[in-house]
Amino acid sequence: MFSVGLTGGIASGKTTISNLFAKLGVPVIDTDVISRKLLQPGELAYRQVRAHFGDAILDTNGEIDRRKLREIVFSNGVEKAWIEKMLHPLIYQRSHDAIIANSRADYVLVVIPLLFETNFQSLVDRILVVDCPAEQQIERLIKRDRIDEKLARKMLAQQLDNSARIARAHDIIENRSETADLESQVAVLHQRYQQLASA
Ligand code: ATP
Repeated sequence: MFSVGLTGGIASGKTTISNLFAKLGVPVIDTDVISRKLLQPGELAYRQVRAHFGDAILDTNGEIDRRKLREIVFSNGVEKAWIEKMLHPLIYQRSHDAIIANSRADYVLVVIPLLFETNFQSLVDRILVVDCPAEQQIERLIKRDRIDEKLARKMLAQQLDNSARIARAHDIIENRSETADLESQVAVLHQRYQQLASA
């Protein structure tokens, strides 16, 4: 089963691009969606987070308050490491299962925002990186999430920089401006991946 990992910095355009692949009929597996599902009541990760942080981590519906969890990850390195050690192998396994479940497709696209940071390279056969200048990411982040520039810069500073991602990419999509022709870039890559998958 041929799989392509799509990664890129925060607000670089991963979701926008994965939607274009989906429009071409490519199954899309999103590790962010898997991570959110894993934290739902009834899941092992939910029980572990609740046991670790206590009921203070829950919202009024008894669900894990993702904002609180994000704040902890953001401000406490030890807790961040605990959450990642618990959650990442579960995300990896679920993603792997989802790839297998789509084995009738030519190939699948797996969106992995922290592909390099989490060492998920072994999950995919090929790596596609969205290239977007930091200033553009900040602009999009402020606009989409209605946050201030200081926070946007802080979020970006916690990630790998784009050049480190580009250096390890097999393929690159340029999403530098509003006029980036994403559809034709995706169409070219789609053809390449179909050929690689059938080779
Ligand atoms: P995250 O890392 O936060 O999940 P992402 O990499 O999936 O983000 P998107 O949500 O696809 O990024 O894009 C970020 C924002 O920028 C969105 O509001 C999206 O509509 C906008 N955007 C992305 N690419 C373009 C483009 N080429 N032209 C205009 N707006 C764009």
